[in-house]
Amino acid sequence: MTCLKCGAESGFVDNEPEPIETWALRHTALNTDHRQFRLTTEWFLRVDPAPGNPLHDQEKENAP
Ligand SMILES: [Zn+2]
Repeated sequence: MTCLKCGAESGFVDNEPEPIETWALRHTALNTDHRQFRLTTEWFLRVDPAPGNPLHDQEKENAP
């Protein structure tokens, strides 16, 4: 989370919104005119070959 007024950052969290919400509330409490924030997120995706794709069976054979 980044404060749009001063650029202060909350730090990273892993799938838990409470720490950054608390940080934003505290930041506004300490700086009463800092009330807008930007939340930056990351999504991780994985693509696996579907059945019928030659890589599907090949990777299945090589799996531990
Ligand atoms: Zn700020």
